[in-house]
Amino acid sequence: MPRQFFVGGNFKMNGVRQSITDIVKNLNSAKLDSTTEVVISPPALYLTLTRELADPKIGVAAQNVFDKPNGAFTGEISVEQLKDTSINWAVIGHSERRVILKESDEFIARKVKAAVDGGVSVIFCIGETLEEREANKTIEVVTRQLNAAAKELSKEQWAKVVIAYEPVWAIGTGKVATTEQAQEVHAAIRKWLGETISAQAADDVRVIYGGSVSEKNCRELATQPDVDGFLVGGASLKPAFVDIINARI
Ligand code: PGA
Repeated sequence: MPRQFFVGGNFKMNGVRQSITDIVKNLNSAKLDSTTEVVISPPALYLTLTRELADPKIGVAAQNVFDKPNGAFTGEISVEQLKDTSINWAVIGHSERRVILKESDEFIARKVKAAVDGGVSVIFCIGETLEEREANKTIEVVTRQLNAAAKELSKEQWAKVVIAYEPVWAIGTGKVATTEQAQEVHAAIRKWLGETISAQAADDVRVIYGGSVSEKNCRELATQPDVDGFLVGGASLKPAFVDIINARI
């Protein structure tokens, strides 16, 4: 079975009730490629509003989740609470949380594990900084980030994970990775899946690209054999998000 194309929309800390309602209604009424899986990720306060408004075919993801069950963890949201509100996805390990909130590989890996254990699928973000790329450390960095998750997850649990390769230097900068750069790292991630997890994981796990994806560059990126979709930030707030979802038609 070919891997189903996947497009995520990461709204980040953007939007208010009205603008999020407008985005969701626009998606509901648009003609979306029915072979593409679409998951949108609004800020936590608007998760339930988004879930109530969005067409049931559109998935909804939290932008974060905590690694512990309900308890004394002020400001956090649990996997149980996501499930309780029909939020079946979580974005974990986004570089803005790794860099600004200082989340470690191990903490992120524990969150991935908690989510999958609790029945929440994960968009697991990895990627190198500009400094790391210039030092030729891209594969080393993404391998380290992947290995941390591999320590926590069983081989079967990778079926609930979408890996988002997001070079930090391409996020929100307008500087998109070239198709060759994206394909090279995606192929390396797939090789890692085959060697570290299983041949089945290498075949089945989707590896999506994120970092300044737009309606202009998505078509070419989508032609690459190991690019199984996109995680879209800025452009997911605009009507052009529909064109990115439809990148292959
Ligand atoms: P961008 O963000 O599309 O605005 O570069 C992507 C992301 O951070 O997921």
